[in-house]
Amino acid sequence: MALIVHKYGGTSMGSTERIRSVAQRVAKWVRAGHQLVVVPSAMSGETNRLLGLAKELLPQASTPEAMRELDAVAATGEQVSVGLLALALQAQGLQAVSYGGWQVPIATDASYTKARIRSIDDTRIRADLDAGKVVVITGFQGIDEHGNVTTLGRGGSDTSAVAVAAALKASECLIYTDVDGVYTTDPRIVPEARRLPAISFEEMLEMASLGSKVLQIRSVEFAGKYRVPTRVLSSFTPWDIPLEQEARSGTLITFEEDEKMEQAVVAGIAFNRDEAKISVIGVPDKPGIAAMILGPVADANIDVDVIIQNLSHDGRTDFSFTVHRNDYQRALDVLRTQVLPATGATELQGDARICKVSIVGIGMKSHAGVAARMFRTLSEEAINIQMITTSEIKTSVVIDEKYMELAVRALHRAFDLDHAGEAAPGAAA
Ligand code: ADP
Ligand code: ASP
Ligand code: MG
Repeated sequence: MALIVHKYGGTSMGSTERIRSVAQRVAKWVRAGHQLVVVPSAMSGETNRLLGLAKELLPQASTPEAMRELDAVAATGEQVSVGLLALALQAQGLQAVSYGGWQVPIATDASYTKARIRSIDDTRIRADLDAGKVVVITGFQGIDEHGNVTTLGRGGSDTSAVAVAAALKASECLIYTDVDGVYTTDPRIVPEARRLPAISFEEMLEMASLGSKVLQIRSVEFAGKYRVPTRVLSSFTPWDIPLEQEARSGTLITFEEDEKMEQAVVAGIAFNRDEAKISVIGVPDKPGIAAMILGPVADANIDVDVIIQNLSHDGRTDFSFTVHRNDYQRALDVLRTQVLPATGATELQGDARICKVSIVGIGMKSHAGVAARMFRTLSEEAINIQMITTSEIKTSVVIDEKYMELAVRALHRAFDLDHAGEAAPGAAA
């Protein structure tokens, strides 16, 4: 008997029929003798719908008071899911009980819309498991120290599930989704993408942080910090396939470099359309200028990603960086009102139609010339690189958004990631 956490995403919970199939799958695991905690997301499209309603009533919900209410609204999607799933499990003849994050409780900090989990009280869950119940816990939501409902950021149910698994020291966290694992790149963009039977924790962390939305980055961080065996697999296989087969399917996140596994130089390609580029033109080139530009941006709580500073001409230089698109207008305002007057820079330029494309692989540590191959591939497609950033296991470039798919496909081919002739199963879900 093992204690296992299952997580089901929005598409997997998308209709009462799908929820019934989830319940049948969970029942299969329980009948095999396991203790099950299940963490579902809101039904697909529901979180968008709820946030859309909120936006109709208050388009710019940026004050703490407004963001508190956004979370109160968004968290209801998962509230519905847990109740429905518990009912479906009861219909399978199982004992099942549902909890909201606030009932467990899953304690978070108070940063509404992107709260971080601080602790999870396992008392109630353990008592229910010991009493033979399946415990169904909301993904995505928690509660701060003042009793306010919080949410963990989009895609946050992954994090809830891995954190619950860590708190319970579960033997495995299974993330059921609408693809049958982690692919070399998003199979919706590149049909030739290949499923990876295993991916190292470091690579998964980079893929998630660089835009692969198959797992929320925070969930990967939790998996690494608490060494939670985590697997991504499909909820779209028939629920009654043999359990042993299901348990080995998908993609396992591994923590040790497996020497037997021939390490591909590049494991995967990630892309991200969520950023915008800002250039401050004609800045006097003198010590402290980066701090003068980015200090007020940081004070406005805006994260900066890629940064480049050009060579100076006649004592002046251009300074460019990227921010999340949600922060783009606010960043421009800060620069216009505070930075231009203080630095004497001549002009601001902004471009929200960019994307960041990244190659990721621990094999890059020991292979020279990988970045050069990336740049050559893009140049052969006549794609202009606007910015570059590298680390030991990734190289990212910022390019015009309209070339994103072309770039991802060309790089996928150039790094031998294409799977000849075999389309990605489940990619059209
Ligand atoms: P869920 O609702 O189950 O949480 P998500 O939509 O959040 O599902 O994540 C699954 C989706 O992630 C897939 O449908 C796929 O389009 C996308 N995706 C992006 N990058 C990858 C990748 N490298 N491998 C697999 N799926 C990916
Ligand atoms: N329902 C939330 C969202 O849509 C959380 C999740 O699906 O993981 O972002
Ligand atoms: Mg998700």
